[in-house]
Amino acid sequence: MTTSINDEDKALINAAKAAISAHHKGESHKLITAMQTVEGNIHYGINIQLDHIRRASACAESGAISSVVLAKETPNLSVTVYRDSGGTNDIVIANPCGLCREMLANFYPDLDVIIDDGGNLRKSNSNEFLPFKYRED
Ligand SMILES: [Zn+2]
Repeated sequence: MTTSINDEDKALINAAKAAISAHHKGESHKLITAMQTVEGNIHYGINIQLDHIRRASACAESGAISSVVLAKETPNLSVTVYRDSGGTNDIVIANPCGLCREMLANFYPDLDVIIDDGGNLRKSNSNEFLPFKYRED
């Protein structure tokens, strides 16, 4: 079920925008995930990309998940933002890629994720955006 965003969601979006503004570096670091926890903290992850070896990259979500795991906390809300480095420097919501949807749904099945639904910002549950996820049982 998708739901509209509230002031708390907007605050996390703004935190993510501030973080990517501070740490953006061309194509190497252009996305940041901000993951809020029930403990009241925000954990960040930034993408890592080598332009000349594109397979050697990591999404921002994996960094945020790693930070949350190390802190032994529980996330309840996540957003990823993307800063365009092509001239406009606009910062927009980036929906998780397929691999990250798999990670989010498996690590945190009830996590709310702020997504861009055709220009409208909404929250989606990680299980909703990855139906029929891979299982071994
Ligand atoms: Zn990803």
